[in-house]
Amino acid sequence: MAAPEDLREQSPQREHAGERALEDDVEVEREEGAPEPQELDPETRARRDAAMRLIRRFGDPVLRATALPVERFDDALHQELQRMGELMHDALGVGLAATQLGVLHRALVFRTDPEEPVTALVNPVLEWASDELEIAEEGCLSLPGVHVEVERPAAVRVRGRDGAGEELLIEAEGLRARVIQHEIDHLDGVLILDRISRQARKEAMREMREAQTGEGAAAREPREPQDPASREPREAEGSAQREPA
Ligand code: ZN
Repeated sequence: MAAPEDLREQSPQREHAGERALEDDVEVEREEGAPEPQELDPETRARRDAAMRLIRRFGDPVLRATALPVERFDDALHQELQRMGELMHDALGVGLAATQLGVLHRALVFRTDPEEPVTALVNPVLEWASDELEIAEEGCLSLPGVHVEVERPAAVRVRGRDGAGEELLIEAEGLRARVIQHEIDHLDGVLILDRISRQARKEAMREMREAQTGEGAAAREPREPQDPASREPREAEGSAQREPA
C-alpha cells in the first residue's frame, strides 16, 4: 500500500500508544495532503518512479493469481524479501506483496512506522480477526490514483514465518492490521476493488483512468483480461490493458 508523508508521521504513535484508533483517524494512503510526485525532491521521485515501474498494475493477470506457500527459506528468498523491502521503501509504500512484483510466493513486507525495520512475513495465516470492523481509506501501489473506503476487522492476529523460517506471531490493530490484511489479500488475488460497492468501484475505475492520463498515458484504460469469471467491472470503451512501461 502507498503511504503519504503525513501518514508516516501520524500512524506510528497511535500504534505504540496502543490507542483505539477512531474510524476516521486511520485513513490510509491518502493522497490528498500527501506530496504529489512532482512535489518530491528529484532523487526521491526518480527512485519512486523506478520502483513503480517494477510493480505490477491492475490489468496484469498475476494480481489475480493465488500465491503458493514458500517452502525453501534460502538465500534466494532472503534476497527476494530484501528487494521487496527496498522497493516498498522507494515507492513510498507501507506494504508490498510478492505478487505485486509478479512473484507467486506467499510473502509480504510492511512497515507502518518509518523508525522501525521492515517486517517480512512469509506464509501468513490469519488466525483471528476482531468482530469490530473499521472503515478507512486505502490505496494500492498496483492501483495508482485509486482511494477507496474499505471496511475490515480492526484487529488481527497473524501467524507466519520470517525470512529465516522462524515462526512469527503478529498481533496488530489500526493501520498495521489494515496493511497486513491488504497484503494478505494480494496473496489470494484479491484487490481493494473487490471489497467495495459496485458504485464505488466505478468511481475507482474513473480515478485510475484519470491518474493514468495524468501520467501522460495516451488515454490508456486499465482493464483486466477478458474473463467472464472475473470479479472486476468491465468498462465499455478502451482496449489496452497494459499500463505504459
Ligand atoms: Zn495493494
